[in-house]
Amino acid sequence: MYEVTIIKSFSSAHLLSRIGGKCEELHGHNFKVEVTVGAMDLKETGLLIDFRVVKKWLGEILEQMDHQYLNELPFFSGINPSAENIAKYIGEEMALKVKTSGVKVARVKIRESENAAVTYIPK
Ligand SMILES: [Zn+2]
Repeated sequence: MYEVTIIKSFSSAHLLSRIGGKCEELHGHNFKVEVTVGAMDLKETGLLIDFRVVKKWLGEILEQMDHQYLNELPFFSGINPSAENIAKYIGEEMALKVKTSGVKVARVKIRESENAAVTYIPK
């Protein structure tokens, strides 16, 4: 099994309802996103997948969220834009992009701060 991980950041605002405390107030994060894709075999080039391609895909997904108020985005309509739901959304969008590339999304990790991270692992 080989894995490739790309790390990128984005900044946005959100509020989380029904959890109590300060997170129910509008606030922002510099989210750090780590996306890992994997497969058993390498291509004949000796690469699993070109880093640049994964970087581009992740950039396209994060572009929709960067400097946005996450609660107002259509894909978070009716759900809390929690780090968990952000990770799932990125995982699902990335799954569409990797479809024909021979790799699968292994996991998406979101760091809200240096000391707090969430990981989404697709089924
Ligand atoms: Zn927050």
